[in-house]
Amino acid sequence: MSGKNNYNMLKQIPAVDEILQRTEVKELQQKIPKILVLEAVREIAAEIRQDILMDRIQSLPENNPRQYLLDLITTSAADRAREKNRPNLRRVINATGVVLHTNLGRAVLSERACQAIEQAASGYSNLELDLQTGKRGSRYAPVENLLTRLTGAESALVVNNNAAAVLLALSTMAKEKEVIVSRGQLVEIGGSFRIPEVMAQSGAKLVEVGATNKTHPRDYKNAVTSETALLLHVHTSNYRVVGFTRETSVAELVSIGKEFQLPVMSDLGSGSLIDLSTFGLPEEPTVQETVKAGCDIVTFSGDKLLGGPQAGIIVGKTKYLEKMKKNPLTRAIRIDKFTVAALEATLREYLEPDNAIKNIPSLKMLSAKKSEHEQRALALCRKLTEKAGLRARFEPVEIFSAVGGGALPTAELPFWAIEVVPYAISVAGLAQKLRGSDPAVIGRLQEDKLILDLRTVLNGEEEVLVDILCRVLEQGGTSE
Ligand SMILES: *Cc1c(COP(=O)(O)O)cnc(C)c1O
Repeated sequence: MSGKNNYNMLKQIPAVDEILQRTEVKELQQKIPKILVLEAVREIAAEIRQDILMDRIQSLPENNPRQYLLDLITTSAADRAREKNRPNLRRVINATGVVLHTNLGRAVLSERACQAIEQAASGYSNLELDLQTGKRGSRYAPVENLLTRLTGAESALVVNNNAAAVLLALSTMAKEKEVIVSRGQLVEIGGSFRIPEVMAQSGAKLVEVGATNKTHPRDYKNAVTSETALLLHVHTSNYRVVGFTRETSVAELVSIGKEFQLPVMSDLGSGSLIDLSTFGLPEEPTVQETVKAGCDIVTFSGDKLLGGPQAGIIVGKTKYLEKMKKNPLTRAIRIDKFTVAALEATLREYLEPDNAIKNIPSLKMLSAKKSEHEQRALALCRKLTEKAGLRARFEPVEIFSAVGGGALPTAELPFWAIEVVPYAISVAGLAQKLRGSDPAVIGRLQEDKLILDLRTVLNGEEEVLVDILCRVLEQGGTSE
């Protein structure tokens, strides 16, 4: 197209001020911060200018082109402004089947924990006030006693997350000293948490022993020197060494510790308080067992198998925990009041273990039985087919999924899912549109199918899921 024509079209683009004066835009500014509306108008106007320059817009209606552009910019800018006004952290319907999905925020909290957070957030609390004496109290007090009671440990401390717990423990126990660890346990846990790196950060010196697949008690014994400060056991919570293996158990480490008068620490990572093997899940060492085995320090996450808020829990012998509490690092990685509130509420559920399984969503989902969800899958499929059967094929399917994310590496449990095969849009395109919906929906892509695993779809989310799928498939049209 000619430059002249482009020039004529560009002249038709209304000024930003003129657009801002329109009633629709003014109304929008009542609901959406003005700065976002302004930004949206500017962006859309600039994009239209660009479209004209690049010949993506080659002509305008002859009859009142200016009005046409004004309307176009107004509607597009309204959409853009609404998009800008949506929270960045959004609700997600987790249809991956992974109960403790780090990217999706790990544990969903119990109702009681949510209420506790709400209460702590909306008013003042005795976070650091001892109501009995009127003097300054400890923010750890509300959870410390529950933790010692539930785990059998002498003492407890909670920090921001388990990575911080390990850092604090190592820095307190073994700064500039040696820590002996098995080669098979030098794990990386997602993101950037690698045992050797955390160790370096803490100032402790790593002494690796054994081979990747085998570490014998004698390997630890041979490595003990006058510089040794700690024997460390790391639960390989996100992978397993299988086959020709030998791991020195925590109990064996404890007896070596006794022999050489060295403390033993176990980083459990996932840290369950109940035996999960009753749900058909692989046996995970519980925190209580590890304490009972004589371990001096045990660290675990609040938001993995415990099903609580993000936190790093340290339990163990008082003499070591007291030192950690005095470490200035503790202040830097302390928990906030929401964590205290949610953790106390979560721990209280464990006082009656049956309640924990019923009321803590992660435990409920991990223990959900496939047979009890068949009707749910069938009903959901029927509904989807009824509403959007012309746009996609929906089928209930039996699947196996890795339920634990990083928490239970080898646990693949059977469950029901909905298989979606869209007709007029690619499966990747569908997945992308679902990610853009609100709430976003995240499933699993499997070749040309989208698998929606129902294990992690919460109560009350199904209706929303149906609505979103129908809406997205309706707009779907062409594939990406
Ligand atoms: C997950 C994990 C961590 C890190 O815990 P965060 O709470 O995510 O910081 C540390 N050690 C082990 C063994 C883990 O599994």
